[in-house]
Amino acid sequence: MSAYEGLSSRLRTALCVSGGSMDLDVLGRTLGLNSEQLTRLVEEEEGRSIRIREQEGKRVAVYQSELRVCSERTRKCAGDCGKLHLCRYFIMGSCTRSPCKFNHSVQTPHNFQVLRQHQLEALGTKVLQQLLLQNDPSLLPDVSMRCGS
Ligand SMILES: [Zn+2]
Ligand SMILES: [Zn+2]
Repeated sequence: MSAYEGLSSRLRTALCVSGGSMDLDVLGRTLGLNSEQLTRLVEEEEGRSIRIREQEGKRVAVYQSELRVCSERTRKCAGDCGKLHLCRYFIMGSCTRSPCKFNHSVQTPHNFQVLRQHQLEALGTKVLQQLLLQNDPSLLPDVSMRCGS
């Protein structure tokens, strides 16, 4: 692993631990970077693993990943989609179907495998829900969609 890859993975970890996003100044301090190094990191990572959002006059780094939820109904998918098999309403924190025929666990062998591919297997369910919500446009209700514009 090169020094840069190490930094990139520390960046990812820092953002995940703080729930998926972080004030850019705080992020720089957490990673022990001076402002020049931080600027370089942002240039390198923006559009790849993070995007930058203006929030109340501050710049906030928001983690983004290729991690998605399988859009096929779990039953039809052969399991080679590379996406999580999870109930969408569960991710949004409001599944009221009982019993729900979709998966509410991130701990299945399939999901674990997918998380491993994205090096996100150590995340807790709450953080994961947060990441998925900010990553996957198909999960966003209309209200949140407008935030980015
Ligand atoms: Zn699938
Ligand atoms: Zn459900």
